[in-house]
Amino acid sequence: MINPKEEKTFVMVKPDGVKKGLIGEIIKRLEQRDLKIVALQMFQPTKDEIDNHYPKDEQWVTRLGQKTKMTYEKYGYDAKKEMSTDNDFEIGQMVREWLVDYMTSAPLIRMVIQGIHAVDVVRKIAGPTIPSVADMGTIRGDFSIDSPLLANREKRAVMNLVHASETAEEAGQEIKHWFGENPPIFDYKRFGVDN
Ligand code: ATP
Ligand code: MG
Repeated sequence: MINPKEEKTFVMVKPDGVKKGLIGEIIKRLEQRDLKIVALQMFQPTKDEIDNHYPKDEQWVTRLGQKTKMTYEKYGYDAKKEMSTDNDFEIGQMVREWLVDYMTSAPLIRMVIQGIHAVDVVRKIAGPTIPSVADMGTIRGDFSIDSPLLANREKRAVMNLVHASETAEEAGQEIKHWFGENPPIFDYKRFGVDN
């Protein structure tokens, strides 16, 4: 097993985070939690890169559709009327296409973040996927309010400022995908955390 202090996760500031001028705020919240930035870059992703970043399997696509359906059910909207289908997988496929458009609509920031339970802690700092249900104190809850209901009516993905890997395994794959086989990970000590 790796040293627990060396757990890494992959984080991106999404187009709305960049365009709202929240790059610094997002980085600040990671650093103030004593997480360490070990790689960081601004870049313009291609459609292919984003398409290969998000999983393509049926289970993952279906989950995207379920997030939409759960919101519709909660607020009493009819999935079939809104999306012309109530099939989770078909809704998920539409959402996935909008996601590629959204994620290629501006330059992004990509980062590798290191620290104890980095994967889970960064997800907690980001907040849940849907900003309208994210608690205040999270990045998504403090700076956004989007919902699949509005996003899907406007034929776009939910804008939620930041991406963070969901599992350590996914983090490993995403770091390789975005930084290459030999990612340029920096090694330095942070005062108060690493000594
Ligand atoms: P990310 O993977 O970007 O960190 P997440 O893990 O919280 O976010 P996922 O379920 O992996 O959420 O969905 C990936 C992205 O797809 C979301 O961050 C959001 O931008 C968009 N998205 C997810 N569900 C929906 C939906 N029902 N309608 C529109 N967009 C959605
Ligand atoms: Mg995800």
